[in-house]
Amino acid sequence: MQHYHYIFTGGGLGTLMTLYHFAKDNFYSDKQILVIEKDSKKSNDRTWCFWDETSVFDSIADKNWQKAWFKNAQLTKQLDLGSYQYKKIRSVAFYQYIRENIEQKLTVHFIQEEIIDFSELREHCLVKTNANNYTCNRIFNSIYDPTPVLNQEKFPLIQQHFIGWVVKTKEAVFTEDCPTFMDFSIEQKGNTRFMYVLPNSSTEALIEYTLFSKDVLEQVAYENAIMDYLTNLGVTAYEIIEKEQGNIPMTCYPFWKKNTKNIIHIGTAGGWTKASTGYTFKNAYKISKRVSDFTKTNSDFKTFYAKTKFWFYDLLLIDILHQNNKVGNQIFSALFHDGKVALIFKFLDEETSLWEDLQVINKCPKGIFIKALWNRIFKSF
Ligand SMILES: Cc1cc2nc3c(=O)[nH]c(=O)nc-3n(C[C@H](O)[C@H](O)[C@H](O)COP(=O)(O)OP(=O)(O)OC[C@H]3O[C@@H](n4cnc5c(N)ncnc54)[C@H](O)[C@@H]3O)c2cc1C
Repeated sequence: MQHYHYIFTGGGLGTLMTLYHFAKDNFYSDKQILVIEKDSKKSNDRTWCFWDETSVFDSIADKNWQKAWFKNAQLTKQLDLGSYQYKKIRSVAFYQYIRENIEQKLTVHFIQEEIIDFSELREHCLVKTNANNYTCNRIFNSIYDPTPVLNQEKFPLIQQHFIGWVVKTKEAVFTEDCPTFMDFSIEQKGNTRFMYVLPNSSTEALIEYTLFSKDVLEQVAYENAIMDYLTNLGVTAYEIIEKEQGNIPMTCYPFWKKNTKNIIHIGTAGGWTKASTGYTFKNAYKISKRVSDFTKTNSDFKTFYAKTKFWFYDLLLIDILHQNNKVGNQIFSALFHDGKVALIFKFLDEETSLWEDLQVINKCPKGIFIKALWNRIFKSF
């Protein structure tokens, strides 16, 4: 049986970001590393967007937008992103870029097998796949297991679920220089539902029908909503050139409590997804750097965690959406009403001071949040 220093179970965003930082650190240059991933990761399985000023991934971003639309039934507002840009990266470009960046600096073996089980034993860790068994000193796991989240009630789970189509339209209906961040003008049906539009040109865009809610829909419901939206934009003919779908957990569940001495959960499985937004890409870049530094000097992954004030803010929002799912439109509309988003982006990046937090919180509907705080005090944290 082959033994490695580190095994990464799953080879997506969390793993590749961590390896990106490993490759920048000589400590890892003599380590034997194995990545076990069930898919080939050669196709574009998702589109990542995030806001940033400059990013180390600028060379692979195929779009950098300076403004964005926010819409609801009463308002159409062009958001001023300030010093930020909204950046778009196709996952296939990211997978290739990271592999090219790390191959000269690390000894990483990539294998395509399905993991059945992994565990920490007395002397080492063991990973079992459909074909082989492997041992290692430490495991970095990014395979998300929803079971512990579903088996508790203290930290509610909202799902960010969506289907997206990249369409080529006959009519020029998209504003190429301005994506639609959230369009709440669509029917809410008692939930938080919005359209998200990423234009490649005036006749081509990714359109995603997105919900932040407890339960997913039948596939046909997302697809009908996209077709209705295209009709309302004035599109009479279109071709679907790509499809994607997702279900991102939005929860403050303390994933880090599942870490053991030599197994750390990373990516969404490690709680790197921002609970209030579902955004993970930028968090993955930042937190994986901490993982890389931590692994060098610490012998116990159980001590890798940091609960901040932002965890608590997110908890309140998720409590609210869980209790009364339809208020999402009201909350996001209040936040984006004045069209200035730089401070909100900084807040969502968890980089604001307490004074700046208060300026953002002050935009939100107060009654809803005070009630949520009151209920949370009785539920404990
Ligand atoms: C369609 C989509 C669009 C998204 N868009 C954005 C966005 O715009 N911005 C943003 O910040 N976040 C976005 N996210 C959220 C988040 O960034 C991604 O989900 C991200 O890929 C999470 O990284 P991860 O490493 O946790 O999981 P993944 O990248 O999914 O990696 C986990 C890997 O484990 C593999 N795996 C699972 N089970 C097994 C098994 N048994 N054996 C072997 N391998 C296994 C999977 O194939 C996968 O490659 C999006 C998510 C999706 C699904």
